[in-house]
Amino acid sequence: MIHSFERSATLFETARRALPGGVSSPVRAFGAVGGTPLFIESAGGSRFTDADGNQFLDFVGSWGPLILGHANPEVLAAVQAASTRGLTYGAPHAAEVELAERIAGCYPGVERVRFTSSGTEATMSAIRLARGVTGRSRFVKFDGCYHGHSDGLLVAAGSGAVTLGQPSSSGVPAEIAALTSVLPLDDSDALRDFMAREGREIAAVIIEPVPANNGLLLQRREFLETLRQLTAESGALLIFDEVISGFRVGMGGAAELYDIRPDLVTFGKIIGGGMPVGAFAGPASYFEHLAPLGSVYQAGTLSGNPVAMAAGLATLEILVRDQVHSKLERLGQRLEAGVCNSIGSHPVRFVRQGSIFWFHFGEGELPRAATGVSRAGAEPYGRFFRALLTEGVYLAPSAYEVGFLSAAHTEEDIDLAVHAFRNAFDSAF
Ligand code: PMP
Repeated sequence: MIHSFERSATLFETARRALPGGVSSPVRAFGAVGGTPLFIESAGGSRFTDADGNQFLDFVGSWGPLILGHANPEVLAAVQAASTRGLTYGAPHAAEVELAERIAGCYPGVERVRFTSSGTEATMSAIRLARGVTGRSRFVKFDGCYHGHSDGLLVAAGSGAVTLGQPSSSGVPAEIAALTSVLPLDDSDALRDFMAREGREIAAVIIEPVPANNGLLLQRREFLETLRQLTAESGALLIFDEVISGFRVGMGGAAELYDIRPDLVTFGKIIGGGMPVGAFAGPASYFEHLAPLGSVYQAGTLSGNPVAMAAGLATLEILVRDQVHSKLERLGQRLEAGVCNSIGSHPVRFVRQGSIFWFHFGEGELPRAATGVSRAGAEPYGRFFRALLTEGVYLAPSAYEVGFLSAAHTEEDIDLAVHAFRNAFDSAF
């Protein structure tokens, strides 16, 4: 039973006097859906409780890390045990080696792993490494993919035939953005033309192989294969940004799902089990270029943090031991069947890859590129989102963010959510 949001509203007022916009990361401010952000008091399993004592069934899962749900007892025990041995050493320790070995044992082609404290650092550093390896400066990203907020990645496509990117944020110098070219997803011809013209100048092409930051824009395998082939031919490194998809779509990420091996891969979220972690990884030969072995500099005071490594290790261990991905697929199928039944004639499409799902508030074919995502869907999504809150179900506070299932969700949770979705569709339209 949802009561009021009074206490969250008061906390938000106070927060706005201390934090810009009252938050530590923009989407949390509810700007896209209206209303007051919920202030979380505690969380466990598939649910969290807000400052007013309301309980919500959570499908955000802290934006992806919580594949085992909130406060998994075994992950907590690992964190507690590690923390009694010290919070940070700034020196080597065994758990970072163990986590690196585990990642290398799961992900095709990975021999070396460098840990960071966020996904942003991972992608930024992977690109620097690619530049160092190739001696080239320019790189390519795709419209609709997000790779964190480093300067070179906050870039949008230039207009018309211009292939040089434009800053998508104030504060990013045009000179930096011009080194990034932005291409459309799902367009092999555009990719082929570009690589034929400019591929020899490109250090790296970075892509979310399962793009999940502008809705869920599932790619055709052939597009990813073309990308693999063209990058190899031009000598550009292919970087799979698996910050979301890594250990989410399976233990071998999208590389295993599509049977395509990138040159470098970036991770975050799940490998930290809810603690701040990122990583970039790949074959030993590339990592010969990284400090302290080589001349590409990269570092971090808290990188390989022992408490975070313990949370990541516990999480990866449980994923394998409990065959979590099979369970998530079954839950996903149940969700999909229920949702498809409850959408009725509303102009909404549902798309899912394992435990990642998205409602596209638009009609027609499911989009595979950013231009296919309905911008008109944001308004009805806001009503859908707010109606769900009153039903005690929490989706992402933006029409363009995906939802996540966790191992803590039960079949009953799914059925409850489907029932709530049905009611919320009626409120949205
Ligand atoms: N890459 C992808 C694919 C992401 O989804 C994100 C964040 N959601 C990042 C990079 C950046 O990670 P972080 O927020 O940890 O900096």
